[in-house]
Amino acid sequence: MEASRVNACLNSEGCLFCRLHDGGFRSREHPFPESLGNDEIVLPPGVVCDRCNFGRLSDLDNAFLNYPPISLLRTMYGIKTKAGKRPMSKWGNARVSMPTEANIYIETNSEKTWRTVGPNQYELQLRGSRPITVDDTATMARALWKMALEFAYIDHGGAMFDSRLDETRRMILGQEPAHGWVALARKGDPNDRQVSLRYWWPPVMHETGEEGMPVLMGVFGMGLGTDLLKRVPVQVPPELAEHGDLNVF
Ligand SMILES: [Zn+2]
Repeated sequence: MEASRVNACLNSEGCLFCRLHDGGFRSREHPFPESLGNDEIVLPPGVVCDRCNFGRLSDLDNAFLNYPPISLLRTMYGIKTKAGKRPMSKWGNARVSMPTEANIYIETNSEKTWRTVGPNQYELQLRGSRPITVDDTATMARALWKMALEFAYIDHGGAMFDSRLDETRRMILGQEPAHGWVALARKGDPNDRQVSLRYWWPPVMHETGEEGMPVLMGVFGMGLGTDLLKRVPVQVPPELAEHGDLNVF
């Protein structure tokens, strides 16, 4: 009895992402990846199907966690991985790890990793293993959309099956090419160790008459923002305006 209940889809609309009923519904889904330190906020079994959870959504979580600035912040703060290990941040010219609370271990493969910035002062220059591509930016946006949709489901339940979000659902799953934008803060706040997410629902109405569902996320002081409905960043919310680099994809 218990097992069959756990394996059932909770909503007549199907899985929150693929809208199908046949993907299995045994797993719990974490809106914030466990490797960001989240073991508390979960969607109960029956909302997201196992096929989405272990497939596309898991890929998005991993891409988000391995995005170089986020991977470095996780390493510096010693946020353990899902498997309970301390993370390592891999860069093109160095590997950064923190074997204990008190030690940061930097293994470099290039003399150019350190730059002199003053007497007895050096700055670590981490270079990505490859340039950030348009696809990387789109993946970051899809990961943010996924998290926002799941948090909004926790708060608003069935309202998140709104047909206005269907295109976003398909783009999250990679069923159609993603297009939109992401704003990334240039500099994080080193004192902020929180992971937070804020979204707006019901949709906000922009002056252009278009609806938006903006999302702001803070990851250990780094700010990210995007929108689940508004694809063209004509009017960026004031909270995002100061967030620096705007990446349209
Ligand atoms: Zn699904």
